[in-house]
Amino acid sequence: MRLIPVPPPTTPPPPVAAIPTPPQVPGERYIGKYRVKAELGRGGMGAVYLAEQPGLGREVAIKELIQSADPVALKRFLQEAQVMARTSHPNLVQVHDMELMGDINYLVLEFVRGRSLRDWMNHGPISPPQVFAVMHGVLQALDYAHRHAIVHRDMKPENVLISEEGLVKVADFGIARLTDDTAVGGTATKTGTTVGTPQYMSPEQVASSKVDGRSDLYSAGIMLYELVAGEPPFTATEADGPFTLMAKHVQAPPKPPSVFRPGLNPELEHLILKSLSKRPDDRFQTGKAFDEALSRVADQMSPGWQRSLEPGADLSQMVPRAMPGVMPSTPIGMAIAQPGTAATPPHVIYNPAPPVKPAARQAMSCLSVVGLFVVAITSLGLLLIR
Ligand code: ADP
Ligand code: MG
Repeated sequence: MRLIPVPPPTTPPPPVAAIPTPPQVPGERYIGKYRVKAELGRGGMGAVYLAEQPGLGREVAIKELIQSADPVALKRFLQEAQVMARTSHPNLVQVHDMELMGDINYLVLEFVRGRSLRDWMNHGPISPPQVFAVMHGVLQALDYAHRHAIVHRDMKPENVLISEEGLVKVADFGIARLTDDTAVGGTATKTGTTVGTPQYMSPEQVASSKVDGRSDLYSAGIMLYELVAGEPPFTATEADGPFTLMAKHVQAPPKPPSVFRPGLNPELEHLILKSLSKRPDDRFQTGKAFDEALSRVADQMSPGWQRSLEPGADLSQMVPRAMPGVMPSTPIGMAIAQPGTAATPPHVIYNPAPPVKPAARQAMSCLSVVGLFVVAITSLGLLLIR
């Protein structure tokens, strides 16, 4: 055996040459130490930039948080962001850092090169194994966050990013605390009253601001319904307005998804309807329980589904013949030829038009206080009667 000499513990470690941070380039825009390379998009809180961390050369996404009118909400959000920065999970967009410039806060985030689940849905149906893989990532992320006492509050396909390598990353935890945009297509929040996007809002979000992780699991259930059935369980026309939609979350039973997908696996149907129970106690109580139930069905329906998001995955191996026509088996631009059956022609199953268009926003803003109050009272009454 060869002995390796170990220096005595009192010996100071040899000096490590520090990598100097390159000086800022004149004419370039910086947010804190990060060099801005491009604008990735704009959301409810402001712009999102692609930037580079000098020295490391790491690409990051920087999200601008235009000052919220409510400093209490901002403080709570920043506290949650600190918790998120201390934790890490493969299905969560990692919070790296925070910067304050002037009175604008910036969140420095893991940059996910890819697209959102909404973009993907807008391009056509998503195959069953891929639906299972996306939901698995989402539910794992939610379970982890809930165990750290963080509730997302705005689970929707826009906030699920799919990387080019096929990783599922949930973005925008807690951001809904800050937004004050009452648009249906965006995030509806009145600080202290209602938080969430009407299409994905849980009954308890409609009724009050007191939500826990089970509210996110309801919103995830709406996403799953939409992915499986091809349309969301509750819709409202422009004329109906967002309160109709919100009231439906509280009162209306969802149509069984088999109405849209005849022959749907009964276990999957049962699981979806359970996730959409009006009372939180009747739903899956944790992301883990929801995930385990869904994974069991996925194993029966689409063996190998776990690898379905990997680039070049052979989806035809993951849709057994025993489950014909259960869900559209045609992912974007790729027909799955099932032995003995003709490949299902691609057809768009998702209608991207929001139920209420921006024109309704102003009316909604005026009505929001009164309307939310009425919906809240009705909902609370209904919840209490049950
Ligand atoms: P939204 O209100 O649509 O959720 P966001 O402010 O979250 O808007 O994001 C605006 C744009 O920036 C979107 O196109 C989104 O896909 C993109 N984006 C947000 N966060 C990231 C990230 N971490 N990595 C890559 N792109 C991102
Ligand atoms: Mg977002």
